[in-house]
Amino acid sequence: MMAQADSIVIVGGGPVGALLALSLQQNGIPFSMLEARAKGASHSDTRALALSDGSRLILEKLNIWSEIEGQATEIKSIHVSQHGGFGRTKLEAAEHKLPALGYVLPYGALTKALDAALDLNHVLYDAVATEVRQLPKMTEVFFKQVDIEISISSSLAVIADGGRSLEDIPIIKRNTKDYGHDALVSKVKTELPHANTAYERFTPTGPMALLPDGKSPESHVFNLVWTGEKAKIDALMALDDDAFLKALHLAFGDRVGQFLSTEKRNRFPLKLSTLKSVAIPHLAIIGNAAQTMHPVAGQGFNVGLRDAEALAKLLISVSSERWGSEQMLQDYQKQRARDARGSLKFTDSLLELFSNDWIGISGARGFGLGALSMFKPAREFLVSKMSYGK
Ligand SMILES: Cc1cc2nc3c(=O)[nH]c(=O)nc-3n(C[C@H](O)[C@H](O)[C@H](O)COP(=O)(O)OP(=O)(O)OC[C@H]3O[C@@H](n4cnc5c(N)ncnc54)[C@H](O)[C@@H]3O)c2cc1C
Repeated sequence: MMAQADSIVIVGGGPVGALLALSLQQNGIPFSMLEARAKGASHSDTRALALSDGSRLILEKLNIWSEIEGQATEIKSIHVSQHGGFGRTKLEAAEHKLPALGYVLPYGALTKALDAALDLNHVLYDAVATEVRQLPKMTEVFFKQVDIEISISSSLAVIADGGRSLEDIPIIKRNTKDYGHDALVSKVKTELPHANTAYERFTPTGPMALLPDGKSPESHVFNLVWTGEKAKIDALMALDDDAFLKALHLAFGDRVGQFLSTEKRNRFPLKLSTLKSVAIPHLAIIGNAAQTMHPVAGQGFNVGLRDAEALAKLLISVSSERWGSEQMLQDYQKQRARDARGSLKFTDSLLELFSNDWIGISGARGFGLGALSMFKPAREFLVSKMSYGK
């Protein structure tokens, strides 16, 4: 077993971990980042991330936005409707004096730009963290790299593993709710061009979204996210392409014309997971590892980027002796708890309101959507919440 020491160790080099690493690098703070995947393996990941305007500003400050802007599709309007009910609303970027309401970006484009900006002397690829151990004045992270077992002790270990591999660290207590729902994701080609419009549609079986894909408004490609109970998603996954496209048209309606073709369908489970707020010395948890939410309101990933930004700012603002101290981590939690709780509440209330199919509720929803389309302050609240978490 080899042993090393560094000031800050980041476990997970996904977009959130890599963004924290880049902020530290740009401010001369020493760090090591462990990433389980091979170098460049995430660059071909085509999953579509919905970025808010607030996230664009974070990436701009780090000089990353100019590298990825060419691959980001602007969302100029969001059309919200419900299946089988009246009422709809449209949010427009121009009305809110924003360049765009958000952006759709391939996951791989973001990780590629972040990796290119990082000093690779501080990044360890193929490095799988296996255990995190608390010591009196530091945290020790054990990892395996090409069958060699290594440990690094640090003043602060930051877990940014997406919440999937180190879930069972005993000191981390979580509140978890399994929605029993999965998300089916794919790219689909449509008869009508996307015209930089994102569609959010609430159906009795779960919300679905179409996010525009391709810089030109004339592109006919959308990213589809279709959520529903696992059994419903099982059935959709089992259909052949033609039957799937017909089912999609039935659920989505005519707004983008016919659905012409689909790429491979993938799925992932949806759960709600948050940390119970306890500041653990020498350990911070950020991104999806800290909170996982339903994608209905497009909040989770953007909250993760704000975690990384806030932690970097705090590390820059305090002296190195205070890195990982209980006080520093309490300050971090205080700053972040409101945003994470607010985004979860916002996401959950949307789900509650739109998942019920009781008599009367569909009418109330229609009324809500109608009211939203009439009242500017309500639309402003929604746009500000979705764009900046405020
Ligand atoms: C299968 C799947 C599909 C998704 N699809 C979509 C989608 O289509 N649209 C959308 O908006 N959101 C999607 N999401 C959610 C979205 O990916 C997350 O919100 C976002 O990636 C969170 O970023 P992150 O950096 O916190 O975590 P991640 O992106 O998960 O990054 C975590 C990183 O940590 C690394 N890692 C994990 N364990 C270890 C370990 N033990 N040691 C070292 N490194 C480790 C991983 O290799 C990864 O690079 C999906 C999530 C999943 C799980």
